[in-house]
Amino acid sequence: MVEPLSAVDVIRAKRDRQRLSDEQIDWVVGAYTSGVVADEQMAALAMAILLNGMDEAETARWTQAMIDSGERLDLRGVGRPLVDKHSTGGVGDKVTLPLAPLVAACGAAVPQLSGRGLGHTGGTLDKLESIPGWRAQLTAEQITAQLRNIGAVICATTSGLAPADRKLYALRDVTGTVESVPLIASSIMSKKLAEGTDALVLDVKAGSGAFMKTREQARELAGALVGIGARHGLRTTAVLTGMSTPLGCAVGNAVEVAEAVEVLRGGGPPDVVELTVALAREMLALVGVDGDPAGTLASGRAYETWCRMIAAQGGDPDAALPVAAHTCVVEAPDGGVLECVDAFAVGVAAWRLGAGRARKEDPVQHAAGIRCLARAGDRVERGQPLFELHTDTPDAVPAALAALERGYRVGDTAPPPTPLIIDVLR
Ligand code: URA
Repeated sequence: MVEPLSAVDVIRAKRDRQRLSDEQIDWVVGAYTSGVVADEQMAALAMAILLNGMDEAETARWTQAMIDSGERLDLRGVGRPLVDKHSTGGVGDKVTLPLAPLVAACGAAVPQLSGRGLGHTGGTLDKLESIPGWRAQLTAEQITAQLRNIGAVICATTSGLAPADRKLYALRDVTGTVESVPLIASSIMSKKLAEGTDALVLDVKAGSGAFMKTREQARELAGALVGIGARHGLRTTAVLTGMSTPLGCAVGNAVEVAEAVEVLRGGGPPDVVELTVALAREMLALVGVDGDPAGTLASGRAYETWCRMIAAQGGDPDAALPVAAHTCVVEAPDGGVLECVDAFAVGVAAWRLGAGRARKEDPVQHAAGIRCLARAGDRVERGQPLFELHTDTPDAVPAALAALERGYRVGDTAPPPTPLIIDVLR
């Protein structure tokens, strides 16, 4: 007779630095999803994994068990090569918005199933919901039809994909067990593999505004993500990018949509354009589509695809975006060089203004956010506006200013140039 597995034995094994067997992993993930393994037992196991790790084979099996906890999307009827992008999250990272229609305009299809923001990094769906009429919820049939007709969809992940991850992520969030490379990597990859894409480009961010604060940590995560992709037969590339200063000028929801539209119309901040084009090139290369992202952006064809993508989901691409009831400006205290603009500080300030949420059921303010009017390395005059704060709740301003104060410095030393794209792992 086969011995029934016990949660306590699985926890003890990982606590004592043993490898978990395939059988243990399949059982514990399935039993947690169905409620047989209790939250406190999974919390103990997650902590043991955070402290003692999982090797590449264990992590790949854990990923498979999370995929098997739910359904997989079948996108075979789309008729174009499918390629997706995932960012590990940063401040001002609105790249998905111009990237999905750009890659679609070049000939591939982008099934971008996204989440909402929690904490200081924004969520793509929160940003898009600032467009009047736009809706995030689509059925599997609507996703397939939109990919076939337009080539790009950005929508909420369907509830049936990797339900084990949804439950486990909520538990990790409240038990100090988010920051584990195998758990982060399996969480991200289970959702992407269940989505049914043919290829995946990962934007793994390093710096104060990212999950991974150092390049070494980001490289470790990128290696784990690419390793899972390889073991599951998914063509995967990871691009390591800097996140010590916000990406672009806008941080928030409607303000980021406005900046993404500038990029789609051939303008926008150079760093957002650079990253959008670089990621598009990697995505097209992975699926063998010979496109010219920079030319497509400049020609307006990506903007046309954006308008069709937004309209297909009920949004009005020409409608005015929400404007905050209250704005205020932070001025340079002295003349000199803006030595730094810290991504984490700006992200927390925007969050305090109402752009983000503290608990997942909280609403966000669509008009709240920050516009950075100068960039690290710029020469500034005393009294020159550096940041513009937007909010519907002026009571939030003092707390936002307190967060921002620690995040910039005017002095006399220009910061060393830091590359936006640090490395590419294939
Ligand atoms: N993003 C995810 O999807 N999962 C994690 O565990 C962390 C970041």
